[in-house]
Amino acid sequence: MDDSPVIKWVKEKTGLHDNLNHETLKAWQREKLSSVAEYAAGRTRFYAGMIDPSAPLEDMPFTLPSDLAADPLAFLAIPLNEVVRVTTLAHSGTTALRKRVFFSAADIERTIEFFSVGMSTMTRAGDRVSILISNPTENSLGSLLRTSLSRIGVEATIAPAIRSVDEALKAAQGADCLVGMPGELLYMCHAFPWLKPRSLLLAGDIVPPPLAATIREIWQSDLYIHYGHSEFGYGCAVDCTHHQGLHTRDADLVFEIIDPVTGKASTPGELGEIVITTLTESAMPLIRYKTGNLSRLIDSRCQCGGMTHMISPVEGRVSNNIPLGNGRHLNIYQLDNLIFVNRSVRGFNAFLKNENGRITLDLVIESREKISPSMLREALFEDISLRVSYGNADPFRQRAKRRIKVS
Ligand SMILES: [Zn+2]
Repeated sequence: MDDSPVIKWVKEKTGLHDNLNHETLKAWQREKLSSVAEYAAGRTRFYAGMIDPSAPLEDMPFTLPSDLAADPLAFLAIPLNEVVRVTTLAHSGTTALRKRVFFSAADIERTIEFFSVGMSTMTRAGDRVSILISNPTENSLGSLLRTSLSRIGVEATIAPAIRSVDEALKAAQGADCLVGMPGELLYMCHAFPWLKPRSLLLAGDIVPPPLAATIREIWQSDLYIHYGHSEFGYGCAVDCTHHQGLHTRDADLVFEIIDPVTGKASTPGELGEIVITTLTESAMPLIRYKTGNLSRLIDSRCQCGGMTHMISPVEGRVSNNIPLGNGRHLNIYQLDNLIFVNRSVRGFNAFLKNENGRITLDLVIESREKISPSMLREALFEDISLRVSYGNADPFRQRAKRRIKVS
């Protein structure tokens, strides 16, 4: 049994080598944690006086994305002139505040290194990769990925701004591996079933299982799922060739899955919120950062033999839930899991209108076959009116993470 590249990397980085298992990894992470907590408390305004570096992780307070949006500089642990990249992100809360994420040269280097490790699972020297997300500016996600690939002998191109599926085809032709958003790659595989890239990395958005199944069926590609986060240098977890869960970046990050209501650890297999702690002396240390992404801890051992942690692909975002009253909510992931089960669906857009308390869900679906309206109605709440029409749903026309648009 060969270790997957991520496991090999954790073994080397932690120095645990063949002694790596859940217990030794936990002990190693605990030790790293107390030194990084000390670093955070001593170097940042936000954590000074707020955390006790000797406390166990589960006793430390959570950090919220809204904390980061409110005062990004309070998290900065290095002099501003040592910052080599700043990423500005919209905060998904109700304010117009923006999160800013700072990177040092060492943070950038760690990201490149993890990307090289992750990408070596699905590519080999001499391959060509087409990156259909991000852009070629310095230190962007795309250019870090390209640099990481060049280190393992793989040539990568970053597609210029794509505005249609035909432009996406031009960028993708001849590539052994495509890196792209799930909805966009699904649309491409319906439009160009003959393209058949050998491997795919789905990144930048949630991957609904029926969508992945259709891509596998049409293209027969080896399909990998990446979980990333700008706050943690983009790369956080990726699956191996056995596809039994995403192997987490355990030498740089601690993952917890918590019950979003109680804040206590979820039991393995149970859906909860991903909480991440940085273990390195980064420009912006983050302790118990609530990502808002929902996933499960996977307890079983991967077929690759990996004795590290695994999480399931992300199954939703807290911020995507649209409240419908009486504790009910609707999110794009529920719709994706319902509609993409029909293998002929290329894509769809969803719009929710609330007119004086009367809620209407408008679906514009692009598919070869019509979707049974009774199937949709059965799965939705009775008091929501449903309007289904058929039309173009090319995701390249308006590129973004999938969501229900509310008006
Ligand atoms: Zn594995």
